[in-house]
Formats: sequence, structure tokens, C-alpha cells
Amino acid sequence: MERELGCRHCKTRNRLDVEEALRNPDGARCGRCKGELFLGPAEVLTSLDPRAYEHPLDRQALEALRRVPGTGTFLRFLLKHGLDRTYRLLMKQNFLEVRDDRVKSIHVLVESTAKRMDLGSVPETYLVQHPQPNAWTTGVERYQLCLTTSLVELLDEAELRAVIAHEVGHMQAGHVLYKTAAAILYYLIGRLLVRATPLAGPVMLALYFAFRKWERCAELTADRAELLVTRDYRTCLRTHLKLASGSPKTLPELRVEHLLAQAKEVEELSSENWLDQIIIDWQQAGMTHPFTVWRAKHVDEWAHSGEVWEILAGNYRRRTPKDVKVIEAEIPPEKPGKFKKLLDDLKDLFK
Ligand SMILES: [Zn+2]
Ligand SMILES: [Zn+2]
Repeated sequence: MERELGCRHCKTRNRLDVEEALRNPDGARCGRCKGELFLGPAEVLTSLDPRAYEHPLDRQALEALRRVPGTGTFLRFLLKHGLDRTYRLLMKQNFLEVRDDRVKSIHVLVESTAKRMDLGSVPETYLVQHPQPNAWTTGVERYQLCLTTSLVELLDEAELRAVIAHEVGHMQAGHVLYKTAAAILYYLIGRLLVRATPLAGPVMLALYFAFRKWERCAELTADRAELLVTRDYRTCLRTHLKLASGSPKTLPELRVEHLLAQAKEVEELSSENWLDQIIIDWQQAGMTHPFTVWRAKHVDEWAHSGEVWEILAGNYRRRTPKDVKVIEAEIPPEKPGKFKKLLDDLKDLFK
């Protein structure tokens, strides 16, 4: 597959062999000035606007979420009462904080990844003893990144960087406020169901499914950040494969081709029977992440698109000073009503 690409040094248009670029991005040179077409792995994607790599489903789902009554009120409640601080306090007390003088090997990865994505700060990072390989991000005023010990054990350095890039993508793309809100909402729903508050039903469930849907779509954007940092879609796919089905005993036998083949099989299966598509939607409805094969399919498609190579060649949409830190503007306007009263009633849950 070939694409046309502008040289970032002399602006000459070059024909790019995508398969060759996927194998060796550093080998892609401008035919005229011989300069490297793509930014090196340590170069900064200066002022990268997240809309340059945002998955269209992410934007669509976020707009749908913003239209659900109660979202704006809920987010304002969250910001006003600083509820995200509870997570930070929890981590500070219980998990080891990674810094330049504590577990430096991981700190270096986090610092360089945040720099690559031009995040503007290095997230606070914590290491958590847990048997499930996992990573997550919280924090409204400042970002916190958590990595489990089994994640560090399962992945090699390039794969761990891919996971960190995924989380930094969530931060860079402005997902964290909504993700933190989602985590608190799920907690509230659990408490409300126990207490059987009468207003907990339809409003909470509508918000719950809207948040879940958006969370799954936001994953597709964060997966793209993995590609922007690693520049290696096989590393990204191998990371997903290991997180889905990796065991130290079977690692030598895992192949990303198997994952892509399985994605194709599921796609063919679901197109044969209309009911399967409904079942797939239903099976994913309560999940925070899309199933592994769908994520692999989206990463594979984007790696073969012109979009990612344009960004890596430095031709991307840049943030303007106006776009920076617009969290308030992202929150839908407040609509007073029953939901606000419900949130006011909930305050005693946190006392
Ligand atoms: Zn050139
Ligand atoms: Zn994620």
C-alpha cells in the first residue's frame, strides 16, 4: 500500500510504502533532501492537538454522553467537592510512588512518554501489588497513573512504554475528568442500590450506560497514542495480546497475526448473522474496554491509514493557547432538577 506524504524538511511530496514504514520508520527518507520523514522516537510531538488522533467514535460517544441529562451537574459536583482527591489519598497511603529516585526505570519511561506526547507535566505514578496486569489513570487537578506489579512482570520495556503511552493518551486527550467521574458514578450506583434511593433508577442507569459506551470508545483514542509513541504497531498489538491471553509459559508462541486473524473471523461471523451483532453489542454494554479483537482491528486499520503517518511526519493539527486546559468548557451547562437534588442528598455518603 502506498501513500503520499510531505517531507517535514523541504515539503517535497514523497511516495510512502506503508508496509515498509511499519517495518522500519527510521528508514523512510525524503527522495529530494534525504532527511528522515518521521520524527524520531525521542522527538516531541509539539503542541499535538488530541483531535488530530481522536477516534471518531470517541467524539461521537462523548457528545452523546454530554447530552444525557445530569452529566453536567454530576461533573460540577465532582469538581466542586474534589472527590478525585480520595483516589490520590488512597494511592499515597497504600502504594509506592515512582519518582526519579524510586524505581527509576519506570519513572524514566513515564517521563519520556509524557514528554513525547507534550503533556506538559509528568503524572504522579504508583506501583501497586496486584495479580492482574493492569494500568489506570485518575485525577482532575493532577494526573495519577497506576501500574500493577504483574503488568511490569508480564511486559517487556517496549510494551510497558506502550501501556504508559495509552494512559498518557487518556490524559492528553482530556479523558481523565470523565473517567474519574465514571469511577465515582459506578461507586455511587453500588451504594445507591444498597440504599434503594427511589431516584436512583432511570437517571443513574442512563448515565451509567452512556459513560460505559464513551469509555469503550475513548479506549480507541488512547490505543492510537500507543502507536504515536512506539511507532510500532506490532508492539501495540503484542501488548494487547499479552494482556488478553499472555502467560509467561506461552509467550514464545504468541503471534500478533493470530490476533488479527481472529479479529477477521469474528467480523465475518458477525456479518453472517444480524443477531450476532446485537449479541456482541449486548456483551460489551457493561464493559469499560472494547473486546481485544476489536481493539486490534482498529489499531491495525489506523496503522495502515495515512493519518498516523502524517502525524509522525509532523503534519498534524496543533493546539492553540485557547485550546489548552478547557475542562470547564467541556462540561455541559448545568440543568437544575431532580438529579441535582439527588447529588445534594448523596453528600452524606462521603462524610
Ligand atoms: Zn525533504
Ligand atoms: Zn484505557
